[in-house]
Order: sequence, then C-alpha cells, then structure tokens
Amino acid sequence: MKPFVELKGIMKVYGHSKSNKIAVLKDVSFSFEQGEIIGLIGASGAGKSTIGKILVGLEQQTKGSITVDGINLHTLSKKARRQFAKNIAMIFQDPYESLSSRMKISQLIEEPLIIQKIEPDAKQREQLVREALQVVSLDPDKYMTRYPHELSGGERQRVGVARAFITKPKIIVADEPTSMLDTSLRLELIQLLKSMNEQFGISYVFVTHDIALTKNFCDRIIVLHEGEIVDEGPTEQVINEPTHPFTRALIDALLILEGAKN
Ligand code: ADP
Repeated sequence: MKPFVELKGIMKVYGHSKSNKIAVLKDVSFSFEQGEIIGLIGASGAGKSTIGKILVGLEQQTKGSITVDGINLHTLSKKARRQFAKNIAMIFQDPYESLSSRMKISQLIEEPLIIQKIEPDAKQREQLVREALQVVSLDPDKYMTRYPHELSGGERQRVGVARAFITKPKIIVADEPTSMLDTSLRLELIQLLKSMNEQFGISYVFVTHDIALTKNFCDRIIVLHEGEIVDEGPTEQVINEPTHPFTRALIDALLILEGAKN
C-alpha cells in the first residue's frame, strides 16, 4: 500500500540567474500515514519552512513529486490543485502577522471557505465558523465580532488554528506555531493540536526548534541539515540515540536555546 503522503526526491532551487541560484532542498524524500505527527527539526535556513510551503502549495518544487492519498499533486490541473488545497492547511508562527488587523475574527476564520469556494451560503459559513471556534475552545458569541488586537497571543493563535481547521484539512503544516508563546501557552496549544489529531485524525508536519515539545507530541522526527535529511525515526529514538553527529549537536544546541528562553 502506498503511504498516505509521500514526498519523493524534492529539490528546490531559489533564484533565476546563475549567480543567485541556491538549492535549498537537495533530494528530500519522506512519507507518513494519516494521523501521524511528524516533527521537522533543523537549524535556521535548513529548508524546513520551504518543505511546508511546498506541501501547502505556496511554493512549487523544482524537482520531485508529492503524492497525497494516491493523488500525485503535480498531475492536477491548476483548478484541481486549488480545490485540493483545502486538504492541507497551514498554521503560522506569528498570529499577529498572519491575521489581518482590519478583519473581525469571524471574517478571518471564514475567509478560506470563500477563497477556496467551499461554501457559498453565508449562513452555513457562519455555522462552520462557530463550530471551528468551539473546536479551539473559544466561545463563538464572545469572539466572532472581535478584532485580532482585542485578543491575547494565545487566543490569536487559536484563531489561526480555527482558520486552518475550517476547511476540514487532512494535514496541517504548523510552522513554529508555538515560538511566540510562553511555556504554558505552548503546552496548551500542543494539547489542542493533539486533541484535534485524536478527534479528527489530522496529521501534522510540525516545524519546530522546540525539542521538548516534540517529545510528547510527535510520532516521528525528521532532521534536516542544509536541505537534506540526515536523521529520521521515532521521536525518542532520534532524541536519545541520534545516528548522525549533526543531530546530536543540533539537539544539544536547541536544548540549550530552549533552556535559556524558559
Ligand atoms: P528554515 O525554515 O529551516 O529556517 P527556510 O526553508 O525558511 O529554512 O529557508 C531555507 C533557505 O532558503 C534559506 O537560506 C533562505 O534564505 C532561503 N530562502 C527561503 N525563501 C526564499 C525565497 N523566497 N527566495 C530566495 N531564497 C529563499
């Protein structure tokens, strides 16, 4: 049986002219099953976000293929790729930056349904927004009419999660979603993501610097170094018995960084 998601030989080159071309992903292949939570770790600039952006369709790979649920995304027409987009959503690092300040919470959460032409009926959209807010434990009656600046950092990140959830995705790419939050809010967000995983079977590709958080959250870890996978395996195994010297150094460095932050 084919895995649920398979990335094969992904290469990404940024830049056009000879002098500014850089290969940020060299030959990245990995796969995961429905409901699996994958932690993607690596130093800054290793190419983690680029993998996330390619998965959600914000960037196009230079080479290689992505198959999701038996569908090779490359073979889809532009229209079909747009329709497919609802299956893979993204949560961003900075809920301040990623949420337009001029839109109400209800409009922000509803927007993907409009952009992706998923639900033409306004009443139905409102119902879906209410459901999404309930999933992230924000009272719809209290939050729908507010603006992002009227929310705390943790609440804003929950809105980001509701916005990702509204299209009922099978996969969510979470790019450093906890890095702007303090420790207790980080744990709350992880618990929320975990409960959505258990309730709805959503898989995550969780891009992070936070090794401590991966321990109770990620099923597997993939270590990226300069655009290549250097280590991969069950979370505990990668953290406790890394096979690549780079992984040990990275984990030690990230643990020190985390220690300094907390
Ligand atoms: P990470 O998420 O691991 O920090 P990124 O995927 O964001 O790494 O970036 C990998 C490399 O690609 C970096 O060297 C970065 O400067 C470069 N890069 C990212 N986006 C672009 C872009 N749009 N144009 C040119 N270079 C880019």
